[in-house]
Amino acid sequence: MSQLRAAAAAAGGLRRSGSRAAPPARRSRKGASPCKAAPAPAPAPPSSRHLFGDPAETETLRRNLLAWYDRCKRDLPWRTRAATEPDADRRAYAVWVSEIMLQQTQVATVIDYYNRWMQKWPTLQALAQASLEEVNELWAGLGYYSRGKRLQEAARKVMSELAGRMPRTAEDLQKLLPGVGRYTAAAIASISYGQATGVVDGNVIRVLCRLRCIGADSSSPAVIDRLWDLANALVDRSRPGDFNQALMELGATVCVPKAPLCGECPVKQHCRARLRVEKELAPASQKLLGKATPVPDVEDCGAGGCPLCPPATEPWDSSLGVTNFPRKAAKKQPRVARAATCVLERRGCHRAPEYLIVQRPSSGLLAGLWEFPSLPLAQDLQEEKQREALAEHLQAWIGQPVVAGDLQLIGEVIHIFSHIHQTYVVYSLSLDGDVTLDPASSPSRWVTEEEFLASAVSTAMKKVLKTCEKQREKRSNPGQGSKRKRGAKAQGTGSTGPGTQLSLRAFLRPPTAP
Ligand code: SF4
Ligand code: ZN
Repeated sequence: MSQLRAAAAAAGGLRRSGSRAAPPARRSRKGASPCKAAPAPAPAPPSSRHLFGDPAETETLRRNLLAWYDRCKRDLPWRTRAATEPDADRRAYAVWVSEIMLQQTQVATVIDYYNRWMQKWPTLQALAQASLEEVNELWAGLGYYSRGKRLQEAARKVMSELAGRMPRTAEDLQKLLPGVGRYTAAAIASISYGQATGVVDGNVIRVLCRLRCIGADSSSPAVIDRLWDLANALVDRSRPGDFNQALMELGATVCVPKAPLCGECPVKQHCRARLRVEKELAPASQKLLGKATPVPDVEDCGAGGCPLCPPATEPWDSSLGVTNFPRKAAKKQPRVARAATCVLERRGCHRAPEYLIVQRPSSGLLAGLWEFPSLPLAQDLQEEKQREALAEHLQAWIGQPVVAGDLQLIGEVIHIFSHIHQTYVVYSLSLDGDVTLDPASSPSRWVTEEEFLASAVSTAMKKVLKTCEKQREKRSNPGQGSKRKRGAKAQGTGSTGPGTQLSLRAFLRPPTAP
């Protein structure tokens, strides 16, 4: 299976994946003479089969889609706010927050974050006054942390440079607000202000490519530009915000990546991918019914030259049906990275365990978030060496010697960031006595488990703590396996009685000689 076709089968998945148009690709012309290069020929215009050229059909499609949306749309908090908030700035802010949160994140995950955010910062003014620490805390677990930071920076800019007034057009929103790209600007403008502009996100790409049999690489800048043209031509002039949301809703709930529900689709009679499937099935059904049904011509445009048809080397595959579209070049493999991290524990008030967390730099991956002290590792570093490196790293944080051999290896935690396949090699260490941190060193603090979970920590670090706790339970109850009978007593170890859970500290203590 070719890269493009494999990607077609797997394309989509996240609501906002691919939502922003990529910047135009730089094309290298290897071998071309630098001074005598002839101007590149203009790309051939797409044929009418890839356009919405019939005004009557376009009108029917809009009407059918909007009627379906009115009947079937999901009840979502940002939709309610957009429909009921009378103040244009507040309305635009509410839509903006939802659009930023929904980038690369599922609707179901966003709802709770959105409600908490809007409760805490119901206006731009309120957000502009928040600290980055507060923003990171609320954002913790949502991923792609720079989104929250940029949202807050943009709110401050609106307050300080635009007198608290949100820009009123898609063009100005994109030009004036940091972190607002073409998609977000168009979504805010159409939903909040009724500007008749289309939107192109991952869901819209999928729907449009199927409606108009677009099989060229849908991640290429040239194709993305065509899709914007289509979206702008198609958007309903009187209800642009609802129309755009309807198109995205269709992609999220009906025209889904792997098994679209074409039978329930409100625009199926306008869908050229579906017509093509029907055409292929027609001879068999005609035979069965004994009659011939005329099916419109839905083949590719012809031999080569069409910028929107699948390339000649990647023709239509009958086994994929409508999921022949969209297609995009296979993604680059994520970078592989390893880091050693240590859950360092001490006894705090009332002997409750406390963990050391330190703050990451204010730029780069997971900027400003808190984590257990961590250290990047070379791929092939031996365990002994990584222990030594980690011990040295910990010593720098706590200002006292750490013996590499005292570090307990817990296991590995894998976390996939958007472009990094990250493995954390997790260690634990329990400290005796009071450990006072040097306030002059970079930000670090001791936190209880509850405080840890409420801090601005990444999902990866929560996984690290969970792994530690699981190990602790496993070691404190070594007899407890999946086959253990219900009601059987747990087996304790060491000085604790049967069934008593050991603390991480007790678990980490070296075994005493018999
Ligand atoms: Fe998508 Fe099927 Fe509807 Fe076409 S008919 S738009 S493929 S759900
Ligand atoms: Zn074509």
